[in-house]
Amino acid sequence: MDKINNFDELGLSDEILEVIKKKGFEKPSPIQTLTIPLLLTNEKDIIGQAQTGTGKTAAFGLPIIENTENNGITQVLVLAPTRELAIQVAEEMMSLRTNREIGILPVYGGQPIEGQLRRLKRGVEIVVGTPGRILDHLKRGTLRINQLSYLVLDEADEMLNMGFIEDIEKILSQTNKDKRMLLFSATMPPRIVKLAQKFMGEYEEIKVSPKRLTVDLTDQIYFEVNSSDKFEALCRIIDIEKEFYALIFCRTKLKAQHLGNALSDRGYDAAALHGDISQNQRERILDQFRKKRIRILAATDVAARGIDIQELTHVLNYSIPQDPNSYVHRIGRTGRAGKRGTAITFITPSEYRKLMHIQRTANAEIRKEKIPKVKQLINMKRKRIIKEISEIIEKKTFDDNLPVAYDLLGDHKPDEIIAALLTHAYKDDFSPEKYAKIRDVKGRTDKDNYSPDQKGTTRLFIALGNKDNFTKRKLADMIKKETKIDSRLIRDIKVYDNFSFSDVPFAEAEQIIKAFRRMGRDNKPLVVKAKPEEKKVKPNFSRSKRKRR
Ligand code: ADP
Ligand code: MG
Repeated sequence: MDKINNFDELGLSDEILEVIKKKGFEKPSPIQTLTIPLLLTNEKDIIGQAQTGTGKTAAFGLPIIENTENNGITQVLVLAPTRELAIQVAEEMMSLRTNREIGILPVYGGQPIEGQLRRLKRGVEIVVGTPGRILDHLKRGTLRINQLSYLVLDEADEMLNMGFIEDIEKILSQTNKDKRMLLFSATMPPRIVKLAQKFMGEYEEIKVSPKRLTVDLTDQIYFEVNSSDKFEALCRIIDIEKEFYALIFCRTKLKAQHLGNALSDRGYDAAALHGDISQNQRERILDQFRKKRIRILAATDVAARGIDIQELTHVLNYSIPQDPNSYVHRIGRTGRAGKRGTAITFITPSEYRKLMHIQRTANAEIRKEKIPKVKQLINMKRKRIIKEISEIIEKKTFDDNLPVAYDLLGDHKPDEIIAALLTHAYKDDFSPEKYAKIRDVKGRTDKDNYSPDQKGTTRLFIALGNKDNFTKRKLADMIKKETKIDSRLIRDIKVYDNFSFSDVPFAEAEQIIKAFRRMGRDNKPLVVKAKPEEKKVKPNFSRSKRKRR
């Protein structure tokens, strides 16, 4: 098998080889090398295990397209866990179509059903859909699946994770017996094997071991960092990297949302992606991410499943993945398509053993690195800017700015003009205050790390809460509007039903209290210092006696 290095050794027709060439695939991926000949020759069912990004769609898509006739009969049904994946698979298959006009239709919930009905009525040879919507069509009698040649379960483990087992069984029971079944899955938990035994005939098992996937193209590193410092550590890493176009994995939807918000608040082009976001919204976010308008996506595993974006520079495990499989799966999102990528994992000191377990099982080499120090960051930023400006000078790409330069030179000293321009362009980018301190994992503070926190913070009580439709964002905006205080200095905001809290450096806290003194009602100020016992307030803390605004 290792000898096969070309698509033309797999038994595909010239017509389809032409398409592959146009598409720009040079060599078949391991799962393609293994799957395609089987699909083209024998009649057995297939179980394929391979991680995301290994080219599974073409592995089944190429032979299936080869063997599908343009006759208006639905011969192929592909089931996928989410709308995004259904669309992705359908699009990939469309791009592999030869001149024979085979109809390929993605079918998913959330999309008006009328369009799907019209298309289905005209006859579609290949239907790619989510189990729920496929069942809908079966119930309406608008889709017939009793003349299938192929049935594909794509990302089968994920479909089971999402609770689709019953839907899948219902769908399978309506299909003709003599079809060929293909099941693809990144992992092979017993539930999948059971499903296969129940519904599949004699099958061949294909496995592309993750070892191949933890590609040499992915540089793997980890940082030991306390939980409470993760955000600051992340910001420093983003800032020190020249390019950061990344997926950040979070354990929960809530965490993903918080992180997405916190990153945007700090000025990054970031967003969150998780199951509580509506499908329309999710699609919009993904589209923005693809176009790099959003460069950082904080996501849960499920939401990120199958997202196929080639140029990611980083994948970051904000929390350590649950198991080695999941690790391999996540980091497989970078270092794709021959591009170098970096996989970063944050671990807290108690998670070290878990990381070692992952490292052993996944056969991965994960190197330890230190969080960049503030001095280092600022030096690096300065160097980068000097380089960028020198480039502009060399290329003389300063458009119509020369007249302004002469104007300024007439009135000021050159060094002062340049410094002022830098302040104008980069604001506080070089200011160490931008960064909070990070404790080293043994609890000490890194010494050369100057930050406002070292001067101490004040916990503020704000007499506005959820009931006033108040949010973290609104608090930051409000403070910024009234005081011009940078929202980065407003930390650890907690919004409860009737009131909120936030930590702010001493000096700024005084400024805020002063600014809002006039704004309260009933002669009560809107913002005051929190009493010490309010510092550790729990969500069920008894109602505040203070009157709300
Ligand atoms: P999977 O389903 O295994 O996650 P996909 O089928 O979505 O992977 O493929 C991932 C990406 O790799 C797609 O953009 C696809 O076009 C590309 N790809 C697939 N096979 C090859 C190949 N042989 N050479 C180069 N790129 C490929
Ligand atoms: Mg896929």
